[in-house]
Amino acid sequence: MFTCPRCKQPVNSQAATCPHCNNQLKAFGHPGMPLYQSTNEEALCDRCTYHLDDTCNFPQRPDAKSCTLFHDYSIPLVPEAIPASQKGWAEIKNWLYRHRGLVAIALLIFVSVILVWAR
Ligand code: SF4
Ligand SMILES: [Zn+2]
Repeated sequence: MFTCPRCKQPVNSQAATCPHCNNQLKAFGHPGMPLYQSTNEEALCDRCTYHLDDTCNFPQRPDAKSCTLFHDYSIPLVPEAIPASQKGWAEIKNWLYRHRGLVAIALLIFVSVILVWAR
């Protein structure tokens, strides 16, 4: 559940406007376009990646209280890569999942051979 930044009431995350205070929650009324809003008197720009790297050219900078492009600088723009130590195991798991039919047949043959030899 999403909380309205103005009235702090719980709101459906797909709602374009708040049903309690009529605050606009999505840009251009489209549910797929988030509209980031400041929850206090501080501007969003103070903690925005595009303000800190000086790439924003929106006219409302540096005092934007709502913005469609805001990105919190504490969250990486690109998700961190999987560490090399975990990458090998993840690739093996993916390979086993993609070829699970062949793996099942190979295991069946292996168990059959073991049972024949055990006689
Ligand atoms: S993208 Fe929006 S919040 Fe970020 S610096 Fe530009 S105007 Fe401010
Ligand atoms: Zn509201």
